[in-house]
Amino acid sequence: MHDVVIVGAGPVGLLLACELGLRDVSVLVLEREPEPGSPWRAAPLGMRGLFSASLHAFARRGVLEPLLDSALSFHAEDRPRGAGHFAGIVLDPANADIDALPFRLAGPVPDVLMTNLAAVETVLAERAVKLGVEIRYGAEVSSITQDGEAAVVSDGAQEYPARWVVGCDGGRSAVRKLAEFGFAGTGPNFTGYVMLAAVAEPVQLKPGFNLTPTGMYIQMPSTGHIGMMDFDGGAFDRTQELTPEHLQAVLRRVSGLDVTLTDVQLASSFTDRAMQATTYQRGRVLLAGDAAHIMSPLGGQGLNTGLGDAVNLGWKLAATVQGRAPEGLLDTYTGERHPVGAWALDWTRAQVAIMRPDPHGQAIQAVIRDLLATRDGTNYVLQKIAGYSTKYDLGSEHPLVGRNSPDFCLEDGTRLGDLMQDGRGVVLDFSADRHLESPALAWENELRYAAGSAVEDFGLGAVLIRPDGIVAWAGEPDREAFDRVVRQWFGA
Ligand SMILES: Cc1cc2nc3c(=O)[nH]c(=O)nc-3n(C[C@H](O)[C@H](O)[C@H](O)COP(=O)(O)OP(=O)(O)OC[C@H]3O[C@@H](n4cnc5c(N)ncnc54)[C@H](O)[C@@H]3O)c2cc1C
Repeated sequence: MHDVVIVGAGPVGLLLACELGLRDVSVLVLEREPEPGSPWRAAPLGMRGLFSASLHAFARRGVLEPLLDSALSFHAEDRPRGAGHFAGIVLDPANADIDALPFRLAGPVPDVLMTNLAAVETVLAERAVKLGVEIRYGAEVSSITQDGEAAVVSDGAQEYPARWVVGCDGGRSAVRKLAEFGFAGTGPNFTGYVMLAAVAEPVQLKPGFNLTPTGMYIQMPSTGHIGMMDFDGGAFDRTQELTPEHLQAVLRRVSGLDVTLTDVQLASSFTDRAMQATTYQRGRVLLAGDAAHIMSPLGGQGLNTGLGDAVNLGWKLAATVQGRAPEGLLDTYTGERHPVGAWALDWTRAQVAIMRPDPHGQAIQAVIRDLLATRDGTNYVLQKIAGYSTKYDLGSEHPLVGRNSPDFCLEDGTRLGDLMQDGRGVVLDFSADRHLESPALAWENELRYAAGSAVEDFGLGAVLIRPDGIVAWAGEPDREAFDRVVRQWFGA
């Protein structure tokens, strides 16, 4: 029996597998596809934006470097210069003041990386296998049973017992349905499309994001990638085949231009349904990533939210499996991640609302456009997109506690990210007398201790960082407070 069976070898399942493998948990990943690699996962259709929190999570485990090689640069003709977008309204880089974002420290980790699903999955699958994880392709999970001691999944041919099962099997998650999770939210306003296609001359479509009175289209001429959002109330029946005629009709309607598609190679549809599992755990079955929350791609939050789930769950599940976890640790997974998922759903809903072609949508869009033309408006959106405003409620008023830690740099050049490679938490003691050294060493299996002055310490004497990079405690090096917080997260 494995400690954990993960269903789905997408980016979220693989990152979770790495986090568990790093702590010597026995993990089996079951993946429906017969082999990795599909044109949907590679660029340009598999192109995805990773933001600060995800990039720091990768850097802390040494997997950012290979991913940087996959970075996609944009052909000049594909994209008007912008600092991202909100509801298709492109942000002016002249208004973006990224250095002013709260607790951000400049360093080697970028704030944004445009990459693709194939690259993320390749890097993570290689690492997972090195950490002893078994990945089995061609295994589509179709049943689950569980009792108080274990859960058993089956792909129809074989049964796989495990102490815990995690569904990372995407938006149509079989695990979510089979384990009878509640799934609630809002229905669609639009049908979206992505395709790889050519457009007949003369090409009238404009490159980049184009908001129109009936929706939006996105065009990247150098790759043939075209995206569309058609406010049809979600009326299109997505079980039917996507014909070139239908795609062309939608493109004409959305763009308002008399364009002709000549060569549709690949096409798929999506909607802005925004739904979330009502809890992320039922007995011995957990959910993460799209299995737990679905939303439209507006604002690029789906993957980043899912990766955040994996990083949050990994160390907690490892400690639970190995009997090291304090009472209730695993419950904090739903407690911390459900609100973040709910926020991401709302973030996409807000964008849909102001893109609506009705007079109300158009009126609010004009207001938002004005606000986004300001420095504060731009920075507000950037802070949200990049994840700098995510703060778990850990019962402390301290502005840093509950946030993803800044990448502190000690004066000898050691960065927090360097200290987190083995998956333990970190105590950074900036006090001259190494005040927290002895209690920290007593927790050596869970925590790494590092002392020294920091290039920027935000006026703090010490910081305790959980294995997922979240600040659990910050302030003056106070032994009593330190002991209390360590026990809260790492047990007696
Ligand atoms: C057009 C588009 C653009 C997007 N852009 C962005 C972006 O820029 N940034 C961002 O953060 N997000 C973006 N997203 C969302 C992002 O792609 C998803 O949130 C992300 O892929 C979810 O990862 P996952 O691992 O949870 O699920 P998936 O990537 O869906 O992986 C699930 C895996 O489970 C497997 N599986 C399914 N059922 C079973 C089963 N029964 N048994 C075994 N295996 C199974 C699947 O084959 C798949 O490999 C975009 C989405 C779309 C459609």
